Amino acid sequence: MNFSKFLTEYFVKYASVNTQSDASKKSLPSSEGQKKLLDIIKADLESFGVADLKYQDDAVLIAKIPQNTDARPISFMAHVDTVDIGASPDVKPQVVEFTGDDIVLNKERNIVFKVSEHPDINAYKNQEIIMTDGTSVLGADDKAGVTVMTALAKYLMTENIPHGDVYLIFAPDEEVGLRGAYALDVSQLPKDVLSYTIDGGPVGEFGYENFNGAGVEIYIKGVSIHPGQAKGILVNPILVANDIIAKLDKLDTPEHSEGKEGFFLVTGIKGGASDAEIQMIIRDFDKAKFEERKTHLKNIVAEVQKAHPKAEISIDISDSYANIASTMGDDKSAVELVETAMKNIGVPIRVEPIRGGTDGAVLSVKGIPTPNLFTGAHEIHSVLYMLMVRRKIRQDIRLILQILLKLGKK
Ligand SMILES: [Zn+2]
Repeated sequence: MNFSKFLTEYFVKYASVNTQSDASKKSLPSSEGQKKLLDIIKADLESFGVADLKYQDDAVLIAKIPQNTDARPISFMAHVDTVDIGASPDVKPQVVEFTGDDIVLNKERNIVFKVSEHPDINAYKNQEIIMTDGTSVLGADDKAGVTVMTALAKYLMTENIPHGDVYLIFAPDEEVGLRGAYALDVSQLPKDVLSYTIDGGPVGEFGYENFNGAGVEIYIKGVSIHPGQAKGILVNPILVANDIIAKLDKLDTPEHSEGKEGFFLVTGIKGGASDAEIQMIIRDFDKAKFEERKTHLKNIVAEVQKAHPKAEISIDISDSYANIASTMGDDKSAVELVETAMKNIGVPIRVEPIRGGTDGAVLSVKGIPTPNLFTGAHEIHSVLYMLMVRRKIRQDIRLILQILLKLGKK
């Protein structure tokens, strides 16, 4: 099987479908294009001979390639939606051979990719690169992952390499709050499954350390009365909300933190004469510190409640995702396998802390630790977003095959 040809052809095909997700829509998927692409992927997998294909909630496509030997089951996940940054939704991918010169992306609109502004590209002279026409996001995040998974399916259906059950999960709406991962019913996967998302950046990047995340809702009921007769009676819920926020450390915020430091972030506040609400998020890499943050917030609420005995304050904290590493327990196979596989394909591993959530972080809080593999994509969420097909995305396939081979031998 010619991977290079396959990856280019199918990537261009998938990238050409507009699958921008829409944060304002409650439906799953949030946009029609995503369902359209999922149906295309389903038809492609069927044409490769994959028989076990099903939709969960008409939104998450799950394919299973049954085992041909007794090996541990493995699952890969990618998201079909692309980010909406306000650029054109019509993606016109073009395959370019990079010669070292500036690249005219769009003659009509005079959009030129200047090598001097993106010197990183010099590493890919005389290679095939897929780029946009400069008016839209290319969507390699995560069409690169999607393409790798379909290529893997085709490979496993045609070549005879030993593997356990392989699950391929194509999920919607990652970019608008990891909704596909939240929706996924993980009971459809075996308990001992090794699980990965294919949604990372440059070759070698491997992510399994990320924030623990929680969402917080604080509700305050005050006492309202005409201001003329208010003395000793009125409890203004807006001022109570203000007291709570004022007790937070002003330096314990995203704008003052980096690396593995956590934070509190007030994301919303609204109030009126009778009640007020505060929305917050909590983030911390360290599980113990994450729990301390929750306690700290509850203590603040208790203190403010004491100062305003006639107000009614409630706090609700719910976990949204977990640090993948901290959910692994003693079984570090998911990490060790990748370390070995990267060594085998000669790619230096770069473990980066992820200051955010991934679909895998959501699966991790559901009990399936899911690290993130690289895709080889560059310039994420930019209209120049590029992807080096021949060398880079192929590394992904090589990596995955190494993992499967290692598992299959056991
Ligand atoms: Zn992504």
